[in-house]
Amino acid sequence: MTEITFNITVDGENDDPLFDATAVDDMIDSTRTQIRQHILKRVGDLKCDQHAQAARVIVSGTYSLESEQLEIQYGIEACCNAMIMKTAALLGKM
Ligand SMILES: [Zn+2]
Repeated sequence: MTEITFNITVDGENDDPLFDATAVDDMIDSTRTQIRQHILKRVGDLKCDQHAQAARVIVSGTYSLESEQLEIQYGIEACCNAMIMKTAALLGKM
């Protein structure tokens, strides 16, 4: 099964009293769940034809409190280049 690692940071000052740290955490948690489901649906059972190994997907992102935008990037680690290319192609853009 494809292993997924998250590395999401929060950027900026939070000056909205209704949107406190807990709310930010909750939001990022649910975003993480959505991204995980997206990745698992596309490449969850994918294995390299040659090496029979699953890839590892690293999701890096920064959530900006000011713009309320989350920028996500995928990093893919795998047994060989062919598997990285295959995983990347299947993941596509979100
Ligand atoms: Zn391989």
